Amino acid sequence: MTTPAYQQVNVSCSNCGNNFDTGSTHNGDIRVEVCSNCHPAYTGEQRTLTNSGQVDKFRERYTGSKP
Ligand SMILES: [Zn+2]
Repeated sequence: MTTPAYQQVNVSCSNCGNNFDTGSTHNGDIRVEVCSNCHPAYTGEQRTLTNSGQVDKFRERYTGSKP
C-alpha cells in the first residue's frame, strides 16, 4: 500500500472559466462546476448574510463559538 503523491494539479472551472493550481493527491487535472471565484458563498450571499445578522449564526454553526 502506497501513499498517493501530493502534487500540483491544474483546476479549471466550467462555470466561469477560472483556472488555478492547487495541491492534491488527484492524478491529473481537475474540472469543477463551481470555484471560489463564482460560488455564491464567495459573492452575493456573503454580503447578504453580513447585512441580515445571520452571520453570527453562520459563525456559531461553523466554529462552535459565540461572538
Ligand atoms: Zn468558477
